[in-house]
Amino acid sequence: MTAKRLAGQPVAVAIRERTGQLVSRLSSEGITARVAVVLATDNEATAWYVRSIERAAEQLGVHCQVLDLASGTQSELAQTIRALNADETVHGIILQTPLPESVDPAALVQLIDPAKDIDGANPLSLGRLSVGQPAFAPATARSVIEILEHYQIPLAGEHVAVVGRSAVVGKPLAQLLLQRDATVSICHSRTTNLAEITKAAAVTVVAVGRANLLTGNEVSDSSVVIDVGTNVTEDGQLVGDVHAESVQTLVRAMSPVPGGVGTVTTALLILHATQAAVAVLEDASLRGAPMAARR
Ligand code: NAP
Repeated sequence: MTAKRLAGQPVAVAIRERTGQLVSRLSSEGITARVAVVLATDNEATAWYVRSIERAAEQLGVHCQVLDLASGTQSELAQTIRALNADETVHGIILQTPLPESVDPAALVQLIDPAKDIDGANPLSLGRLSVGQPAFAPATARSVIEILEHYQIPLAGEHVAVVGRSAVVGKPLAQLLLQRDATVSICHSRTTNLAEITKAAAVTVVAVGRANLLTGNEVSDSSVVIDVGTNVTEDGQLVGDVHAESVQTLVRAMSPVPGGVGTVTTALLILHATQAAVAVLEDASLRGAPMAARR
């Protein structure tokens, strides 16, 4: 048996369709959704990722502005974020990592207005998610949910194992799963019975950053496996955290790397930016504000 392939591409296409509908609604009100990416590195892989966000935005008629602050100081970056918060024409802010070693990322993400925090970087967004208030989740965590829902993998009442507890993936994902009534086990480097938990789970999501962490010994034939990991092998290949050879012949369904979660994230960032713009529009409509104030 070979596992059903939970490819990211059809999921991204469906997300772009939803975004297109929101863009049309905004455009009928004369509004263009705008996203600002604050970039503070000259790392080539990051530049490539940011270009993919720009392309995704452009394809959908969303304006994407990249603010290149490669040697930016803490105070320059803070000032930039404050200015973007105050700019009513900007609906979404992404503070792209990695940041220069000299800056304190935690202090910077806390500055992002939660209403514009389209990649769920501000801890307030995670806090809001955890108490069920509206907030943007990090695009990677949300991508996992989009894949599971697109392929109609049931979550309510199901046991889901999340391997990894970072603020970017594991923790927000656990909150999104709880919101969908899953029973969630959050595993980490000190979990002693990982195989027992992942074998028992209906769905296992691995977000660790270690190639071959999950092998055929840690899954069952009824498992659905989502691989969030991205690792580059010595010969330059991109691989996930799952030992694909041993797992894909055993499990029910599995997302590939590349071509899985990573394919969905940029589409989701643009969806979040348009949702943020729609929220401003709806808020202005409720308050009866004039059009100029809505942009
Ligand atoms: P991270 O901050 O380094 O967190 C890794 C997590 O894995 C930690 O919670 C750690 O546990 C846990 N862990 C480490 N070794 C483990 C082990 N042997 N068994 C069980 N858990 C273990 O990483 P991250 O930022 O969440 O990213 C995780 C992976 O996702 C990386 O490969 C990253 O590149 C990838 N990623 C992909 C995308 C995408 O778009 N596809 C986006 C973001 C991240 P402790 O908390 O105990 O240390």
